[in-house]
Amino acid sequence: MKNQTSDFLVIGSGLAGLTFALKAAELGQVTVLTKAEIKESNTSWAQGGIAAAVGETDSWRLHEEDTLIAGAGLCNPEAVRMLVQQAPAAIEWLAQQGTRFDLSASNNLDLGREGGHSRHRIVHHADKTGWEVERAVSEAVRQNPAIQVYENCFVTDLILSEGECIGANSIISDLGPAQFTARATLLATGGCGKVYDNTTNPRVATGDGIGLAHRIGAKIENMEFQQFHPTTLKHSQLAGFLITEAMRGAGATLRNHNGRRFMYDYDNRLELAPRDVVARSIEREIQKLKTWCVYLDATHLNSEELKHEFPTIHQRLLEIGLEFDREWIPVVPAQHYSCGGVVTDLQAKTSIPRLYASGEVTSTGVHGANRLASNSLLEAIVFSFAAAEAVSQESPGLPPTSNFTPPHVIPENEAIHIRHALQKEMALHAGIFRTNEGLRKLKTFIDETSIAYDNPPSAPFSAYSAEARNLLTTADYIVSGALNRKENIGLHFNADNP
Ligand SMILES: Cc1cc2nc3c(=O)[nH]c(=O)nc-3n(C[C@H](O)[C@H](O)[C@H](O)COP(=O)(O)OP(=O)(O)OC[C@H]3O[C@@H](n4cnc5c(N)ncnc54)[C@H](O)[C@@H]3O)c2cc1C
Repeated sequence: MKNQTSDFLVIGSGLAGLTFALKAAELGQVTVLTKAEIKESNTSWAQGGIAAAVGETDSWRLHEEDTLIAGAGLCNPEAVRMLVQQAPAAIEWLAQQGTRFDLSASNNLDLGREGGHSRHRIVHHADKTGWEVERAVSEAVRQNPAIQVYENCFVTDLILSEGECIGANSIISDLGPAQFTARATLLATGGCGKVYDNTTNPRVATGDGIGLAHRIGAKIENMEFQQFHPTTLKHSQLAGFLITEAMRGAGATLRNHNGRRFMYDYDNRLELAPRDVVARSIEREIQKLKTWCVYLDATHLNSEELKHEFPTIHQRLLEIGLEFDREWIPVVPAQHYSCGGVVTDLQAKTSIPRLYASGEVTSTGVHGANRLASNSLLEAIVFSFAAAEAVSQESPGLPPTSNFTPPHVIPENEAIHIRHALQKEMALHAGIFRTNEGLRKLKTFIDETSIAYDNPPSAPFSAYSAEARNLLTTADYIVSGALNRKENIGLHFNADNP
């Protein structure tokens, strides 16, 4: 079995993991473990951009105010202040790593606007900001001799020794079991969209970080706050493909089957109301008219400008025969972002000594009950900066431990069945609208299904099956959180609550 010790261990190669790796490499040797190819991450799929108060009429105070309003009173104000104050520096750092942002005619950053923001403040690269950011930071990582990356390396468990996290156990596709130890470990495993049957997240978003942290007793909170993006494509060949909010920012409108601009019936901010409001309005409209989607109408906008600003969306829709400057786009809400996660402080420290966390896997306190659009890439950078500063204090020199037997997981064919059933049940009972009865049924389903993992038969290791176990743990946190949350706030809406 492979054993390796380095100064710092990173689990995940999205923006959170790679930002930390680049910063920590200034202090020592860094090992990055990632379960697929380096760029496979939620980060690569981000479209709209990164929020930063860099416009002339903007200020961090306005960004702070908008973030706190979206969070519906549940944000940690200190974390929010840290986020918004450091946003311009985060953008500058990304540019230094080689990220190309769109510029205006006057050569300043071209700033978009999204729902919930009182100013134009979304720094972007057309409609594929995440792709560009991930390209830049992964190239910087590849060129850094202090960073070693292991791809196709599935982390199965964190290692706890005398109450401290000293590293992680993993299975590498070509090598088999491998154990990595370090003086500090950063958990940056991203989101958990695959717990639902309809999500914008790619296949790697299976809540592994929640499972890993849970199994060593780290504190996890606020998982009931799952953000559903209002406008994802309803199409069998491209389900869950995101139609960025920036398109509504540019003037696209929502219409029902009868062509009526139905947001007039729900909120006077219309299509640019916060995401939870728009998503709930769409769900209500779909239920009211008994249809399977609503439509995003961009046909009245300037065709050339649309294609210039949204080239990826234009291209992907063309591939399924849809011309967005001439036809309405069928859309439905889908799970998009997890606001809750592993609890961290302002230094990105979790409740377990030597374990840090950053990015979507965390609950840093910046999102509260609802995330303001484009604050998550920013959060990943700012809290990875903080972690890299804090890890310098961790004492060096931990020996590798050696007793690692890969965990037993249930056979893959059974895991397939469990995953599909879980995704359907979660969509039915823990989606945008919840009820006590539905949540209780779901909790029973999760408890009964999880028993399969208590004493699994001896089967070859399967990452797919290990993910199913993490999805069950993640679902349990979402459902338990939803049952315990007795008021409707932000993203949590239970029809039985007062
Ligand atoms: C379609 C889409 C559009 C978005 N648009 C925006 C936007 O415009 N602006 C914005 O701010 N945010 C946006 N977001 C959200 C944002 O992209 C994510 O919140 C952010 O990128 C998360 O970064 P991360 O580094 O925490 O996680 P990720 O980028 O998801 O990276 C997680 C990494 O962990 C690895 N991993 C997971 N489990 C394991 C394991 N067991 N072992 C080893 N490795 C593992 C994964 O392979 C991956 O490399 C969008 C998200 C999506 C899906």
